[in-house]
Amino acid sequence: MNQPKNMSTRDGEHFDVLIVGAGISGIGGAYHLKNDCPDKTFAILETMDGFGGTWKTHTYPGIRSDSDLYTFGYSFKPWIGPPIATAAEILTYMGEVIEENDISSHIRYCHTIKTAKWSTEDKLWTLTIHDLDADQLITMTCGFLWMCQGYYRHTDPYTPDWPGMDRFQGTIVHPQEWPDDLDYTDKKVVVIGSGATAATLIPAMAEKTSHVTMLQRSPTFFVARPNSNELADTLRPLDIPDEWIHEIVRKKILFDQEQIVQLSFSHPELIREELYKGIRDILGEDYDVSEHFEPAYRPWQQRIALIPDGDLFHSIAAGDASVVTDEIATFTESGIETSAGKILDADIIVTATGFDLSVLGDINFTIDEEPLDFSQAVGYRGMMFSGIPNMVWVFGYFRASWTLRADLIAGYVCRLLRHMDDMGVHMVTPTLMTEDNDMELLPWVDPENFNPGYLMRSIHLMPKQGTVDPWRHTQDYWTDKDELPAIALDDDALRYR
Ligand SMILES: Cc1cc2nc3c(=O)[nH]c(=O)nc-3n(C[C@H](O)[C@H](O)[C@H](O)COP(=O)(O)OP(=O)(O)OC[C@H]3O[C@@H](n4cnc5c(N)ncnc54)[C@H](O)[C@@H]3O)c2cc1C
Repeated sequence: MNQPKNMSTRDGEHFDVLIVGAGISGIGGAYHLKNDCPDKTFAILETMDGFGGTWKTHTYPGIRSDSDLYTFGYSFKPWIGPPIATAAEILTYMGEVIEENDISSHIRYCHTIKTAKWSTEDKLWTLTIHDLDADQLITMTCGFLWMCQGYYRHTDPYTPDWPGMDRFQGTIVHPQEWPDDLDYTDKKVVVIGSGATAATLIPAMAEKTSHVTMLQRSPTFFVARPNSNELADTLRPLDIPDEWIHEIVRKKILFDQEQIVQLSFSHPELIREELYKGIRDILGEDYDVSEHFEPAYRPWQQRIALIPDGDLFHSIAAGDASVVTDEIATFTESGIETSAGKILDADIIVTATGFDLSVLGDINFTIDEEPLDFSQAVGYRGMMFSGIPNMVWVFGYFRASWTLRADLIAGYVCRLLRHMDDMGVHMVTPTLMTEDNDMELLPWVDPENFNPGYLMRSIHLMPKQGTVDPWRHTQDYWTDKDELPAIALDDDALRYR
């Protein structure tokens, strides 16, 4: 690593556990550590000057969750608002968790981890960290590294290189870098993309703009639903504790989702029809739902974004927004020309084109002085990795809420740490066994089953998965919820020292 000029190095503290990132996973991890392993010392290291991760980085108009907060929220902290929440509401919720559990004193903001070195001799990780406030490099050591750094580069959004971009005379904005002072009143706006971000931005901007066009290469599945939960609304007036309501509603949502996921395999056409019906009900029979909202892929290969109260479709029905499904041929001085020759005039073009995958927080890892090639590692139940000691990466679900997995992994880590204390050992390394020698190695996720663009672009950088447990990475909450809490800690694939 290149040390910036004039930057001195200061040696730092030791912790039992260091958590990387103060997003929803890192704060959840801290809660579990405090409650399940109260004797462990720990700190959370966070690059930004506040908590929230995704919900702090993204400030575009309308920014909100695309899954419900009964399952995106933590298992231990009741959610009492409407299911789909704004970033501000999620930050308030996380702030309460931090306050109620006295987590704040553990967080070191403006600390970017640059390198992580494992020493088997010392059974320690040594981290080099850029303390951004002091503009100083510091080191910290820890026994266990809990990677909650998410999966995408917060500082660098993904924008494809389209022909003619430099000719465009208007403003080009990526939602990940939304300028506070962008005035879109009465402007013509084109939003490129069809994911949850585009679907959020369009209704939020449509009331002020002269018109918003959603330009998509291909359609995405959406589900239009009221932003309310009938069961929660029934239980709420009955003076039932919020904790109970949270648990019951969460269980009901997960039960329903499981049926839908199963139906999406056995009867995908039924699911498709149900989703299209909700859209047609708002847009009317004359609207070409099949051209713009009927994807070629199977439902649930990606999480289906929930459109609260169908707001995107109401903006289209009102004529404030429209959809063009076509490829970009070129940017022009005044907008975009599509492959089919359509001219889309724009003052502002929003590139809602997604993320760049960041593997392990762009941290340089070495294990006993050897640079780590993460793509050669094999995931242990999709959370630890062969040959990498004392490290877990929280990678959530694609089709269910991310936090469900963050919670399950946190429970496992605390169980593992307590087990190591009981055994009097300081090192655990997932290790492929002789019988795994001939095991076929597969991509980190099955591209047939999950195919978000950011992952497909960079899947070669990710670790592999095997074909048998514990090396599979199923991405299936309904299996994990029973299996992760029951993983045997004396599993032969875990080598302790
Ligand atoms: C706009 C948007 C909406 C989403 N909506 C949903 C949703 O509704 N439901 C859902 O399940 N998922 C959703 N996701 C996916 C979402 O990212 C995750 O669900 C979740 O917020 C990830 O939380 P996290 O804490 O694991 O990671 P992040 O939120 O990405 O936080 C990681 C943190 O780690 C810090 N960090 C990274 N590298 C370093 C380093 N080297 N040193 C120090 N700090 C570092 C980052 O600054 C960041 O604060 C959404 C994603 C986006 C972008």
